[in-house]
Amino acid sequence: MDAFGQEGKMFQKCQGSSLNTTQNHVSVIRCLLDGCSRVRVTWLSWCLVLFSANAMAWSDHATLLWPLVRSVPQLQSATVAAEELSSFLDAEKDGLPAVLAEHEDWARQSLPHFSPTPTELAFSKGGANQQSDQLRVAFLNAIRVNPELAYPLYRQRTVEDRAPLGSQWLWQDLSFLSVGTSHVAVEYQPLSAGVQVAIAHVVATASDEPDLGMDIGLFVNNGTEFGRRYGFGQQPFGNPNLDYGSQAPFHMGFYHLDWLTRAAQPGLLQTYPLWRISLYDRLAQFAFETGHDYWGWRFMGWALHYIGDLTQPYHTVPLPGVTTPEALWLVVQGRTGEAIQLVSNRHGVLESYQYQRVQTAQESRYWEGPLLSAITGVDAGHQLHPEEVLTQLTKESADEAANLDAAIERWVPARFVSDPEFEWTGSGYEPDVVDLVAQDGGDSAVDALDEVVKQRMVQFSHFARGWINRGLAHAARFEKK
Ligand SMILES: [Zn+2]
Repeated sequence: MDAFGQEGKMFQKCQGSSLNTTQNHVSVIRCLLDGCSRVRVTWLSWCLVLFSANAMAWSDHATLLWPLVRSVPQLQSATVAAEELSSFLDAEKDGLPAVLAEHEDWARQSLPHFSPTPTELAFSKGGANQQSDQLRVAFLNAIRVNPELAYPLYRQRTVEDRAPLGSQWLWQDLSFLSVGTSHVAVEYQPLSAGVQVAIAHVVATASDEPDLGMDIGLFVNNGTEFGRRYGFGQQPFGNPNLDYGSQAPFHMGFYHLDWLTRAAQPGLLQTYPLWRISLYDRLAQFAFETGHDYWGWRFMGWALHYIGDLTQPYHTVPLPGVTTPEALWLVVQGRTGEAIQLVSNRHGVLESYQYQRVQTAQESRYWEGPLLSAITGVDAGHQLHPEEVLTQLTKESADEAANLDAAIERWVPARFVSDPEFEWTGSGYEPDVVDLVAQDGGDSAVDALDEVVKQRMVQFSHFARGWINRGLAHAARFEKK
């Protein structure tokens, strides 16, 4: 609660400004948001502190994607040979520098808020004359992901893996992050180089990989050695000291902010999912072109993670359901922290509810039921282009955010989504969310929330299918005759 007091003090310092003109609105809000504050506690950075706990969007993307990829014959029947990252890099170290340089040029020209890659990180031919481990680190630095993860060969087991497969890994074998509720029981199958693995498994597994910590610690104030070198500057929002906090700018895309928020809090414009998607898409094409289909699909799966995240409306709008005038009024009243807590809790409840419904349906093998069939979707033959992430995907999510937020407020017990004193994440209620909704609102509440989740899954399916079709097109284009 200290921060509320600090926010109040901040407002007092700013009161000298006039609210008579639009320009002054901006300057006052900017003052309130950050410029005037010695303590740097702002309504939106508050928001980001709270976003941090929810920076994962959908829980367990591999399980989320499974109903879709299991239904695509080309992904189920076709296999690719698992290949170590260092092997791919060693084979293609001469061609990779040009591919990465070309993408860097595109990003600098096309992404207005992009932080350029420092030239010393560029994957150069000179730098490529190295041993395999140095090569690996040089590549991870060049694409600016966390270089302390192992990026090993593995696949996530699904509910359809019936018999034990011998040795297995758990979350803690793959990530330095503490395990969340959704991943406690997840098992991973280590793979040896050369083993054939179904493309469906490669894509599904890779689509959860960015949540293992790939985007954690990349900013200069994250206390990591590589963060000081990566050129992303200070973390633009979120709590730099919290688990998951530092990945928020990579997994959230605020591409449709109103002009006032853009002017008042430009840090919110520094989001990177489109850059990640386009980078991994370019790497995937290169991998397919050079005959490394395993890496082609693994890169496509990495990109798919961000596409999935952006179908979560809370990852595309900072405060759904709060109009700009209402946000200004909240600032004046010193009640922004309350609004942010409510949004954070609704965000968390949606993820818990969706995860429980998808997980239960898969454990029951209820593939033809409404939820899983919504994820399976239909193949309209659409191929998703990275630029459509802005023109279609995030636009749809942002347009839907207020309605979604209102439905959660209407149908979830008030204690969880309408009480700013309550904190959903870590409350211990997450696994029982469906029963709690039913006890409070009966079947109509469950039906209404199921419909809300189903609509989001329809959207997820549409864009995920579009991305998979793009991967199939890449693979077909470079298929060896
Ligand atoms: Zn994510």
